[in-house]
Amino acid sequence: MSLSTPTVRLRFFPWGECASPGWLLMRGGGVRIIRQPVLVGLLEHPRAGCWLLDTGLHPRIREVSLQLRLFTQLSRMQVPDGLPPTPPLSGVFLSHFHLDHGAGLTALRPEVLLTSREGYESSRLGSDLHVGWHAALWPEDQFARTRWVEDLPRRSHGPVTGFDVFEDGSVLAVPLPGHCHGQYGLLCQTAAGRVFFVADAVGHSYVLTQGLRQRLPSLIAADPVAEARTQNWLRNLLHWCWMVPSHCPHAYRIPG
Ligand SMILES: [Zn+2]
Repeated sequence: MSLSTPTVRLRFFPWGECASPGWLLMRGGGVRIIRQPVLVGLLEHPRAGCWLLDTGLHPRIREVSLQLRLFTQLSRMQVPDGLPPTPPLSGVFLSHFHLDHGAGLTALRPEVLLTSREGYESSRLGSDLHVGWHAALWPEDQFARTRWVEDLPRRSHGPVTGFDVFEDGSVLAVPLPGHCHGQYGLLCQTAAGRVFFVADAVGHSYVLTQGLRQRLPSLIAADPVAEARTQNWLRNLLHWCWMVPSHCPHAYRIPG
């Protein structure tokens, strides 16, 4: 980051919740139920306005298919009534095509959506129903109002290379392979330091900080080997940035 790199304001808040026994989430996770937030981020860029990072859960998922309705019940999801309260938005970033991240898209119908072309194309392959996603969660005319992460200029900050979202170095979209095709996180320069929103690259920060081996989220991973490699890479960055996984109950209150 150079002296002229602008900083963004960033906060995260839960928009929905899921819960599982600790031992099911990770080896050594204990017998108690761990309640996990479904996080949504609000990013304010000095020039590019307010961006929502993922959309959280939304009642729409109960209408799409019986399978998704059963899935929300089995994972004890608490689904909020509607969309997260936000100031007027310039855009929405979708980290990956899973329902607890994109369920609000059809209600939001963002003017600008930033997401991965690889993720989108993978979500259109085969049947409408995918692991954790259904094609009906994508707004009908959203394609024309979508910018693809992969089309942005590449840029590096220290050990991290990604795509320069606002073309000023303040936010990099970083590939996080394994959990889902075309998953991207955001490395953000804030006044409090570097904050890395890592979406579902890791299900709970204890997998990184305590070395507990992940279980349940890895069972649905698109590529478990790549997922483990990504988690090892993130572990090496713990000293360098503050990491926010989408479902960790501990990491989303950014210090500073
Ligand atoms: Zn996911």
